[in-house]
Amino acid sequence: MERKVRVRFAPSPTGALHIGGVRTALYNYLFARQHNGDMILRIEDTDSNRFVPGAEDYIKESLQWLGIKFDEGVGYGGNLGPYRQSERKDIYKKYVKQLLDDGKAYIAFDTPEELELKRKEIENFQYDAHTRDLMRNSLTMPQEEVSKLIDEGTQYVVRFKIEPGIDVEVNDIIRGKVVINSSILDDKVLYKSADQLPTYHLANIVDDYLMQISHVIRGEEWLPSAPLHVLLYRAFGWEEVMPRFAHLALLLKPEGNGKLSKRDGDRLGFPVFPLEWKDPKTGEISSGYRESGYLPEAVINFLALLGWNPGNDVEVMNMDELIQHFNLEKCSKSGAKFDYEKGKWFNHHYIQMMDNDKLASLFMPVLSTHNITTTPEYVSKVVALVKERVNFVKELWDQASFFFVAPSEYDEKTVKKRWKDDSATQMLELSQLLQSIDNFEDAATETSVKNWIEEKNYNMGKIMNAFRLALVGEGKGPHIFDITALIGKEETLERLDKAIKTLG
Ligand code: GLU
Repeated sequence: MERKVRVRFAPSPTGALHIGGVRTALYNYLFARQHNGDMILRIEDTDSNRFVPGAEDYIKESLQWLGIKFDEGVGYGGNLGPYRQSERKDIYKKYVKQLLDDGKAYIAFDTPEELELKRKEIENFQYDAHTRDLMRNSLTMPQEEVSKLIDEGTQYVVRFKIEPGIDVEVNDIIRGKVVINSSILDDKVLYKSADQLPTYHLANIVDDYLMQISHVIRGEEWLPSAPLHVLLYRAFGWEEVMPRFAHLALLLKPEGNGKLSKRDGDRLGFPVFPLEWKDPKTGEISSGYRESGYLPEAVINFLALLGWNPGNDVEVMNMDELIQHFNLEKCSKSGAKFDYEKGKWFNHHYIQMMDNDKLASLFMPVLSTHNITTTPEYVSKVVALVKERVNFVKELWDQASFFFVAPSEYDEKTVKKRWKDDSATQMLELSQLLQSIDNFEDAATETSVKNWIEEKNYNMGKIMNAFRLALVGEGKGPHIFDITALIGKEETLERLDKAIKTLG
């Protein structure tokens, strides 16, 4: 029988969620939805040293903003919780005991100093089948001594007893069969008496089992942990329900050499975090996609294509289309260059596709910061005219401010180039002509002005450029008669008047 697809996104709350982590969450989500499966949010917070306050909320808010939804998990409920590992202490203890009872794990008392000493003594030391006999553990010490030490409260760890010389096969959906010999693995610490908590390794694997995870989709930095996953599942006798693995290739620097880091973002000016993040320790603020003006749809589309493509030229896909076309098996084995310019392109694209009223509603708060009060209807008409010129909502202000405020000064270069000796006279004539026209929204305005220019044998470009300068204050902007139609007769005449007076 086919297993129900159940995947998990299992971040550790150690800081802001990196954009690569967002892609991992997205691929899990696409895969789950496409198979009518479940998507689970598990918080892996057993390493209290690395815990960062606020990180968990940050992760949840980021994924919510992006439209990546969960069926179960921290904050979402479900029958297999709790889903925060720090709340599952007792559960893990039972499994640690099981391994100890079965002789598949052992207790080790070596202090950090003793381990350090061994590292100095033995080149490339690792705690494994070759060295465990030299160490202070329940395999080398008499049972009474072990019990005595534990009773006295001596700190210990529980280590997984890995049998050497076994070829461990990991069947990775993306990478195919990966074989690793168990001799290269060390006897991983599974549990620490000091905080009575399991390590990442044990908790991660026990929870995958208990939460009935069918597929583990995660970044390739976790590939080295996969053999341990297999061996632990085996040690517990859970082979039948071993999850399938899919290790996603790294996101690379835009230049392609090496892993994408926060420093690349700082250096090249793009965010590497979904939301702005303030480091609670240092107070350092890192920019986020949301605050930088990206639309969630654009971020999703951009990320989806970093490591996967539908195999044709189609690039623009919304979440539903991504769910439909995504193919885990077709994910790339090699890293994807983080082409942030492409991210901007997607944002531009999604702004163009957005309904003007919706876009206007996003622009309204920007207008408020400039103390503009106006109607959504008007803003909607404005954005329709200028949106093709922007990548981000906030750039709409640069492109459209003159729709809301008359120019207070005139760009010097444009004045030099466009305002000639006879411009004032010509603009005065134009102003007189415009006064006779009642409805500026009518296409007839343009015809009348053009007829007048022809009759007078004026230079069309010259008139239009001076007119634009008067209306906009510089040489940019959409079609002139689209501007006049929106700002209206009175405002147009006032701006002409002011330019004539100011520029002479
Ligand atoms: N807690 C790990 C992380 O922070 C999860 C690794 C996994 O998905 O197995 O990414």
